[in-house]
Amino acid sequence: MKINIAIDGYSSCGKSTLAKLLSQKLEYSYIDTGSMYRSVTLYLVNQGLIKDGKVTLEQVVNSLDEIDITFKYNPSKHQSDTYLNGKNVEDEIRSPEISSLVSGISKIKEVRKKLILLQQKIAEDKGIVMDGRDIGTAVLPNAEVKFFVTADLEIRTQRRYEELKEKGYDYSFDKVKQNLLERDHHDTSREENPLKQAKDAILLDNTELTIEELVDKSYQYVQTKINK
Ligand code: C5P
Repeated sequence: MKINIAIDGYSSCGKSTLAKLLSQKLEYSYIDTGSMYRSVTLYLVNQGLIKDGKVTLEQVVNSLDEIDITFKYNPSKHQSDTYLNGKNVEDEIRSPEISSLVSGISKIKEVRKKLILLQQKIAEDKGIVMDGRDIGTAVLPNAEVKFFVTADLEIRTQRRYEELKEKGYDYSFDKVKQNLLERDHHDTSREENPLKQAKDAILLDNTELTIEELVDKSYQYVQTKINK
């Protein structure tokens, strides 16, 4: 029996790494919903519609029908790449510019409506590990397994700082921390589907655990649900 697994949590808390490894272990598909919000943001940036971090609602709504987001499995990475209107945007959507703008775009109701419908469609056939902010609460409220991942802010900052450095970006530790705090604030305080732990989600604190321990712990829990 295949089930759906919802993983939510703060930015850079390790949820995508967990989701990727868990999906590989289970031979499930991994869907990164953050990449969808990032793709919408990238589209608006490329169209020159975001000025000083701002965009009009009308322009966003008019753009939504022009945005097609798909995923294609990349065997060399053992995971799917994100395509925006047929173009692989996997690297572009992770730039600091997009990271700093995405929370402002993801709070727009019309954007969420479009992406949530798409996410629900993808999960229809089960066998999905989906990560984001509102998966357990709004996208897949009936997911058989829900995890909510947290980690200490310093550790999350360090992780993101190293990730960016590896990609060649020169950002100070404090600047990275500031971006995480801003995103946390936006994501938890927005009106539409704010980030919060679903009542039936299992809390996983990633501060003290190694990634292997985290994957093992969640895998064992998933097995109990699959074998039920
Ligand atoms: O997961 P990631 O950090 O790539 O997500 C980027 C942004 O997309 C988040 O900061 C949040 O604003 C938004 N997001 C969301 N709902 C989701 C996934 C991501 O609002 N399900």
